[in-house]
Amino acid sequence: MAGHTTDGAARSLAAATRCVALGRPEPGPGAPVNPPITLSSTFLHDGAREAEFAYVREDTPAWRPFEEALGGLEGGRALAFGSGMAAAAAAISLVPVGGVVVAPRSAYMGVLSLLRDGAAAGLYTVREVDPTDTAAVVAALPGADLVWLESPSNPLLDVADLPALLTASREQGVTSVVDNTFSTPLLSRPLELGADIVMHSATKYLAGHSDVLLGALVTASPGENAGVREGAHDGAGLHERLAHHRHLHGAAPGALETWLALRGLRTLAVRFERACANAADLAGRLQGHPAVERVRYPGQGAMLAIEVRGGAAAAESVCATTTLWAHATSLGGVESLIERRRRYDVVPDSLVRLSVGIEDVDDLWADLEAALDRLASLGASDAPGGLPAPDERT
Ligand SMILES: *Cc1c(COP(=O)(O)O)cnc(C)c1O
Repeated sequence: MAGHTTDGAARSLAAATRCVALGRPEPGPGAPVNPPITLSSTFLHDGAREAEFAYVREDTPAWRPFEEALGGLEGGRALAFGSGMAAAAAAISLVPVGGVVVAPRSAYMGVLSLLRDGAAAGLYTVREVDPTDTAAVVAALPGADLVWLESPSNPLLDVADLPALLTASREQGVTSVVDNTFSTPLLSRPLELGADIVMHSATKYLAGHSDVLLGALVTASPGENAGVREGAHDGAGLHERLAHHRHLHGAAPGALETWLALRGLRTLAVRFERACANAADLAGRLQGHPAVERVRYPGQGAMLAIEVRGGAAAAESVCATTTLWAHATSLGGVESLIERRRRYDVVPDSLVRLSVGIEDVDDLWADLEAALDRLASLGASDAPGGLPAPDERT
């Protein structure tokens, strides 16, 4: 590992320190503190030897600092991808034709759509399970090639028993992927629990400022994850296959994006700590509000979901009424975002997802409370009058 901290030293550092210290250039008099943004699509040959870098789609020094930092945080080796979905597609490409995937029916919509498309095209079979029903997930594992896990899930905030499910996946020789976007390595390090691959939409908390599209996969370091079944848990082998996929499918990230994501990662610990504290506070306040039917808060993290009284129209009206909470999709940025997640079947019509940012919590509450009070005053029990009909197209 380049920079001020060696691999061995990094292991003893706290996560907050790793966020700041990893992925720095080699130290020396006059050396820059931050890595350069390497904007080069091609690299000079090195005579008879094979050079470390040749062409940017395969590998570039531009990705390395971010990959070193994220790998150090998750406890494995990271590969950056052009988006979270590019990373997910690479992981799913490990499934052989005719294979079997176990996936939560409440998984992130994009991942679920991709899996269903693959199944519809006859590539593999998907066993969709309730991720909160541990016994049901375990029962679906025998004979599977890949198990997809996401905890807490987007947007239902379902919590899966990762230690139990990852142990069972190992026993069954099933390669496991954990989408760790909501938890970040600060709250959960699935590789330590036996996961084979950790997936991130770095677009969210890791980059953290709603200005970057980026994904990542992290596999266990070589030698740390020797497997039961040939290949299924071989960290080094998985890394090679995923890097090969990135290269040939052109799933490469941009140099500027990886640089910005590393810049964002520097403040991850302080941003996330504040956002989590805000979310815990707001979860308590929301619980007591008469317009709120149910609060979904898994007890940690910075994502909340509420089900409001009055159905879809009421939920839309709350999103349209807040001013500090921006009415937009996505999550994990410094600014608080609010959105009704209306696009897929397992999500209740009245569910409003809240990505809690790092603003002052009293300001956040005042804005949210005003929108909810307005709803309560409209008597939003059934189909509230005067509220706009929700747009069901998307
Ligand atoms: C956003 C998101 C993704 C997809 O990532 P992109 O960077 O948008 O491609 C995957 N999983 C979860 C949980 C997400 O929130």
